[in-house]
Amino acid sequence: MATGIPPTPTPETAPFWDAAKEDRLLIQRCRACSRHYFYPRPFCPHCASADVEWDEVSGEGRLMSYVINYRPVPPIDAGAAQIIALVELDEGVRLLTNIVDAAPEPDALPLDAPVRVAFEPRGDFKLPVFRLVDAQ
Ligand code: ZN
Repeated sequence: MATGIPPTPTPETAPFWDAAKEDRLLIQRCRACSRHYFYPRPFCPHCASADVEWDEVSGEGRLMSYVINYRPVPPIDAGAAQIIALVELDEGVRLLTNIVDAAPEPDALPLDAPVRVAFEPRGDFKLPVFRLVDAQ
């Protein structure tokens, strides 16, 4: 299991991290225009409404882009390549995340591949990461 730096929740992000501890992915949605958005903030970036709520989403999405990082990030073991990815959820928001349980090679990471959220322990928290659906 990967280890890494635990998140530092803020008042705006605490609901996201609390849900992740329970293996649930929460994304904010605007009640005024019905659109989802990420990262967490107290107003809608589309229409500026402050009438926003947290919505539990499926965690299904697509791999939009990625970079394979070979440089060790303490305390991750040296030599373990990390796939840093941009995932677009079915709800239309994009998250910067990691792809896990996949070979860190371009041939194993086709763009637009379906992915699904998973949750990895990070200290007292869990970090939403993604797996290729075909690899599950
Ligand atoms: Zn809105």
